[in-house]
Amino acid sequence: MWLSVPKESDFSIHNLPFGVFQPSVDASARAGIAIGDHIVDLAAAATAGLFGKRRFFRQIFEQTTLNDFIALGKPVTNKVRRKVKEWLELPQKPENATQILQPRKTAIMRMPLRVPNYTDFYSSIEHATNVGKMFRPDNPLLPNWRWLPVGYHGRASSIVVSGTPIKRPWGQILPPGGAPDTPIYAASRQLDFELEMAFVIGKESALGEPIAVDQADAYIFGVVLFNDWSARDIQRWEYVPLGPFLGKNFGSSISPWIVPLEALKPFKVKGPKQTPAPLEYLKSKGASNYEINLEVSITPAKGNQETIISNSNTKYLYWSMAQQLAHHTVNGCNVQVGDLMASGTISGPTPDSYGSLLELSWGGKKPLTLKDGSSRTFLENGDTLSMRAWAEKDGLRVGFGEVEGSVNE
Ligand code: MN
Repeated sequence: MWLSVPKESDFSIHNLPFGVFQPSVDASARAGIAIGDHIVDLAAAATAGLFGKRRFFRQIFEQTTLNDFIALGKPVTNKVRRKVKEWLELPQKPENATQILQPRKTAIMRMPLRVPNYTDFYSSIEHATNVGKMFRPDNPLLPNWRWLPVGYHGRASSIVVSGTPIKRPWGQILPPGGAPDTPIYAASRQLDFELEMAFVIGKESALGEPIAVDQADAYIFGVVLFNDWSARDIQRWEYVPLGPFLGKNFGSSISPWIVPLEALKPFKVKGPKQTPAPLEYLKSKGASNYEINLEVSITPAKGNQETIISNSNTKYLYWSMAQQLAHHTVNGCNVQVGDLMASGTISGPTPDSYGSLLELSWGGKKPLTLKDGSSRTFLENGDTLSMRAWAEKDGLRVGFGEVEGSVNE
């Protein structure tokens, strides 16, 4: 390869994730593929004739979201990745390299998708058990949990790209020591993150027609990191009986690069044993989980010192993406290109692998100490929360970069 890619880069030649970027503030948005410290400008590559049909592809890649490109289907999206790979693997630096390559450092990353629908699952048995213990000590895991991937319909309008500040939500909360069941209107005092991965729907399905579990991969374009910001005090008061609402829908952040499902194949692993055995429509053959390392950090505004607060892994998820999608559509619900389906908080088995502050600080009872000496039970104004994800095996590295967001007053 004529372009040098740092060995530790998330964006190796095996990854080639898609995103939307502006090379500078005054340049227009266009689609790109990340490679090392650079971005392949797909609109420029189309103009140079890398994919044939110059005008068609230039028009596709000059759009501000990837939806129309993704909707062309995997034969086309995989071909574009293959062509870019071939171009990067030319024996010598091609003459058009200066027009096509842009530095990643100075690029402005944009929201890569128009998200028609967003669904949030609850697929980590460790997370569901931990939260259950705090909310219902005598009955942590409800009887349906091992039979189906529990989920709810979230809000698509407030999904933002990494780097977008998050405004602390206000709402109804029950103040401790107040009159029982008498809420006040106030800023959330228990603002939390949720460490999640989300998959992007790449192919629409027809209303009334379920997607079989072994067909799911054909409908999944790729995967992003997902921070499902949550206000626990608002959530606790409002969630009965219909579930999450304003404690959740004020914002969720995604990483800007969509890692194609194809790039994750080498990292497939078997999921945890499922007991009881799932019903027939949820039974999948072979490995259907992924081994992807996850890391979460807090950087307080003052001092700018980062503390890693959790290390988890997607391999712990009880319900796989394929099972989530099969379950979501088993009643005939249709999916649309750009839909996001998030895993739910991904907690591991040990306290240092929990995927939310609710669990890490055990409902606020065990404050965390940060490197600067300050402590946290939940997020404070000025805190920057970052999540990173990467898979590594036999010298192959495929990473997601990061999703970060700062909390504002
Ligand atoms: Mn969530």
